[in-house]
Formats: sequence, C-alpha cells, structure tokens
Amino acid sequence: MIGDKLAQYTGKLDHVKTGLTFDDVLLVPKYSEVSSRRDVSTTSKLTEKIGISVPIVSANMDTVTEADMAITVAREGGIGIIHRFMALEDQVAQVSRVKRTESIVIENPYTLPDSSAIGDVRDLMNEKNVGGILIISKDGKLKGIVTSRDLRFVEDQHSAVAQIMTKRSDLIVASKKTTPEEAKEIMQRNKIEKLPLVDAGDRLVGLITAKDILKRKQFPKACKDSKGRLRVGAAIGVKGDYLERAEKLHKVEVDALVLDIAHGHSLHAIEAIKKIKKTLGREIQLIAGNVATRQGAIDLIKAGADSIKVGVGSGSICITRIVTGSGVPQVTAISECSLATRDSGVTLIADGGIRNSGDITKALVAGADSVMIGSLLAGTDESPGEIVYRGNFRYKVTRGMASMSARKQQLAKERGTRHEINHMRSSDEQEPDLIDYVPEGVEAIVPYKGGAVNVIRQLVGGLKSGMSYCGAKTLTELRTNGEFMRITDVGLKESLPHDVEEL
Ligand code: IMP
Repeated sequence: MIGDKLAQYTGKLDHVKTGLTFDDVLLVPKYSEVSSRRDVSTTSKLTEKIGISVPIVSANMDTVTEADMAITVAREGGIGIIHRFMALEDQVAQVSRVKRTESIVIENPYTLPDSSAIGDVRDLMNEKNVGGILIISKDGKLKGIVTSRDLRFVEDQHSAVAQIMTKRSDLIVASKKTTPEEAKEIMQRNKIEKLPLVDAGDRLVGLITAKDILKRKQFPKACKDSKGRLRVGAAIGVKGDYLERAEKLHKVEVDALVLDIAHGHSLHAIEAIKKIKKTLGREIQLIAGNVATRQGAIDLIKAGADSIKVGVGSGSICITRIVTGSGVPQVTAISECSLATRDSGVTLIADGGIRNSGDITKALVAGADSVMIGSLLAGTDESPGEIVYRGNFRYKVTRGMASMSARKQQLAKERGTRHEINHMRSSDEQEPDLIDYVPEGVEAIVPYKGGAVNVIRQLVGGLKSGMSYCGAKTLTELRTNGEFMRITDVGLKESLPHDVEEL
C-alpha cells in the first residue's frame, strides 16, 4: 500500500522544462528573395495603437533614458522610456521636452506679454533654447515676434520689447488649418522662418517653424504622434506616488506608461494596472511587466495591459537569478509569453539581454514585437552621465535600478543628502534601509560609443540582414519563416571568431 502511494509521487526534476537563451539557438537560413536591405521593412508596434518603424525601445534606466536619448531613439523610429528615479516634476519636464522637440504645429509656443523688457526676451530664449519669442497682449492677441536676429546688436536690456519686435502689421500669419505643405510654401514665398497661427479674433493659437518642417525630411522614420510630435514613454512604479505620476504624465500627453517592477506577475502589479486604467481610461497605453511565463502574461493582459514586458533576470546588469534563484532564459521566456500575447491585440516587448543585432532578430522570431535595450545604449552620448577614463580608454557608467549604488542615490534624493549617503557603507548600522536592502543589480562600465544613432543604425542594419537570411521582408514574415536550431557549446565557439588573433 505504502509502496503504491509513493509510486504516485513525482520528483521536482521529473518533466522539468529546458530554458534556452540567445546563445543556445541560431536561426536556420532560408530561401530569400531579398536583394537589398532597402527591400526590408522593420515596422512594428509598441502597442496596438503605437506604430514604430524600428522595433527598438530604450530602457527606463537612469543611466540610459532621459529626454536626449528618447529624442534620438524616436527620430530613428523607435521609442524611449523616461526612467522614474527622479522627482515627479522632473519626469514631467523630460517628457514635455521630448514632445516639444518637433511638431507640425507647436500648440503652446513660448510667449511674453507686450509689456516685457528686451532682457526678459533674451532670458527666455536662453532658458528655453529657442530662436524666437512671440509677443502677445493680455487677452492673447498676437502683437509681434522677436527673433535672435533682432537681439543681435541690442545692448539696452531695459527698453520695451515693442521697440525691436517685428510688429503684427508686418507679420505673415496663417490659420490653424494650414497644412505643413501650405506652411512650407508660405514660408518659402515670404522668406520667413516662423509662421504664427491665429484664430479669427487674432489670438495666437500656434506656431509652425521652418526648422520643424526640415526635421521631418531629415528623420523620415521618426516615431511621431498624430500632431507630428515625437513619441515618448515614461515609467512609473506600483507604490507611493505612482497614480499621481501617471495622471501628471498623462496630462502632458505621454504616449505610453510603463508599469515597471521586477516581479510583474504579482498582485501589486495587477491592482496597479486596474487602478490606472480605471483612473485614466482605457485609452491610456499601458505597458506592464516584467514577467517570464505564459501565465504571468495572461494575468497582466486580463488586468488590462496593452503590452507585456518580458524578462526576469536577463538584463546585463542583473543578478536576480543569482540572488533569488529565479528567472527564465530569455528566448524561452519570450516564446512562452508570446503564446499569451499572440492574436490578443497585446504586444510583447523583450526586455534585457540584447547584446547585438543577432539577439534582436532571435527575440523577434521568438515572438517579440520589439526589444528593450539598456546597457547597449548606456555608452552613448545621449545617455545621462559623464564619460569616465580608465587608462587610455573611455567608458560610461551603467547600473541596475536595483543595485546598491542606485538605491543609495534614491535614498539620498529622498533625503536631500547625496554626499553623506554616497560615503556610507552598506554595513553602516545607522542605515537600516541599506543593511536590509538586497541588491538585484550591479554597477558597471561600458565602452564609450559616441552618438546613439550609430549604435541604433548598426543594430537595425544587422536586423535587416538577419531578416534577409530568414527570407523575410517584414517582421510578420520573419516570425512565420524564422526557425530555430538548438546549438551546442562547440557550435557557439564556431559562431564566434576563432583560430585567429583579432586586431
Ligand atoms: P540590458 O539591455 O541587458 O542592459 O537590460 C536592460 C534591462 O535590465 C532593463 O530594461 C530592466 O528590465 C533590467 N534591469 C534594470 N535594472 C535592473 C536591476 O537592478 N536588476 C535586474 N534587472 C534590471
């Protein structure tokens, strides 16, 4: 009897699954009709409602994405997610900066009242880094414009702005209905750089600039909203001020919110998704994660997420798997989660562990709609932080958002005592917050790489070649045609440069 009962038990290792990651697999080359990378389209979706022309999302890490990175990534056709480890008003300002960078119509151009002095105009131009300020009356009527050219030789800062501005009677204006093509034509005909838009009562309602029109040509793949503004996302947590953050970011028209927690398959995350959707409405585009299982993805989809971020323990700076023993190798995690997202109208972002364009191609074949990239972009000019020198080589710092270094800085910011905390040891008994803190990330350096544009273009070029090897002209074809082959350690050795000395 006892023997029968025992025979029913299964060991924890019976039927154990195998997890595979990028280096465990290769894509089998397929017949291809692609003759040039120009034939290939990398168009994808961040969420069902947000199109991207390259499937690259820059990570919401404080060493990766603030406004500069988000602007560059969006111009190249992807999207950046502004991290949340800053004061709410700073994060809102970062989002606004990206949204103001380019637009067909600037809806709230910088203005000053007609009672201002010349010095006020100069100050505002310097502060906002713009080449012109519109002058309006108390009731919002357009009175004139001052450009940097008007200020060039003016010494007296106290005189009234009216003395130097181009007056309303000499201004060429247009209505809000003006299309970019019409605006271009008007500006060219009149040799002007700025076209203020007014309503029937001559109140200022917008501005079109030649610079913005030219930028449209310069970055044809840019990821833009319906008003021609660059798209940008922003991260929030599930505790503290997260709902207020979500509301304020929504107010400045952030394109997507990323609910960012390490273990996204949790009650906390599910409740936060529901709350945000209830408060801000179903239209708000909400990305949630991170998860690494099919059930995790299903539960977040049921809660209302528009996109699922996949990756537990896959990040370059991540030690979650070492510290907790938990995680799923990334290609398996993507493939499992894609069983939940496929045909559901919910997209999948593969987050963490991307080291090269080959990994991107593999992630997309496994079922991702886009990849989130951290450390690969951390060494660029656009990432926050300074270049550091080690011998003759240049680097930038990257770190896990759950590293001790990030935690110290977060604590310091909360308390406003950066210096003190930076000199604190984690064993300091005075700091229970730090003693009890168990980091799941490390701080590291990555080689300095110059502008992010080069990195992104190399990645996209490699992806396009990868698509060609799979006989795919689109990412949908890539997903259908792509076929994995599992390789051995010896196969991996063969994949890398071998039996030569690299220069
Ligand atoms: P990477 O592209 O391999 O550098 O991975 C970036 C991803 O790592 C991020 O988007 C996060 O999901 C994840 N990550 C960031 N900080 C930490 C951390 O401290 N611990 C674990 N994972 C992290």
